[in-house]
Amino acid sequence: MILLLIGPPGVGKGTQAKFIIEKLNIPQISTGDMLRSNVREGTELGTKAQEYMSLGKLVPDQVILNMMRSRLSDKDCLNGYILDGFPRTINQAEGLDDLLNEFEKNLDLALIMEIDDSLIINRLSSRRSCKSCSKIYNLLFDPPTSQGKCNVCGDDLFLREDDTPQTIQKRLDIYHKETKPLIQYYTDKNIGKSIDAQGSIEEVKNNIIDAINI
Ligand code: AMP
Repeated sequence: MILLLIGPPGVGKGTQAKFIIEKLNIPQISTGDMLRSNVREGTELGTKAQEYMSLGKLVPDQVILNMMRSRLSDKDCLNGYILDGFPRTINQAEGLDDLLNEFEKNLDLALIMEIDDSLIINRLSSRRSCKSCSKIYNLLFDPPTSQGKCNVCGDDLFLREDDTPQTIQKRLDIYHKETKPLIQYYTDKNIGKSIDAQGSIEEVKNNIIDAINI
């Protein structure tokens, strides 16, 4: 099964993707995680991407599409995957269609996670991630047991550089302008399904279960 998650930053795409991959036994492919790992490793791609990411801007489509062409050719993608944070523009969506045609695959479902903008800034500025294992916490509704430390591996938690209020607003503006048109794009292809993502992690999880019948 090939699925993708569309939604504004902070809607819970990463959190819900983790649950879907366990259920369906397919990999999660997060362009944000891939880019951050390139930044950490100081690759050429990471250095280029960092200029955009730190400002809350989108990394150019061609850079993303090249990265995805290589990732989607990996062996673990043979039985499907869930795309988290890609595509983010119509150009990327068309590029994905071309890639899938080339690989003779079809996109099964685009899950559109809907939430009010007013909830996003609070959620994101309370988000913390583990430096080592990337587990995500939220100080408001999913805090770690011991302050500032990961429950799983015990390493330090940090606030992402692009989760500051000013950058969040910029990312939201870009979401509305560049990414929201994808809702119509996938609705027109009859594979768009809307998910109410305003509730708790558990409630949203149940909405997704209903939508994809797992
Ligand atoms: P995310 O973790 O999905 O919120 O992504 C963090 C940042 O990585 C974004 O604000 C962008 O700068 C960049 N990024 C991630 N995915 C994409 C994409 N599909 N297209 C362009 N930029 C991206």
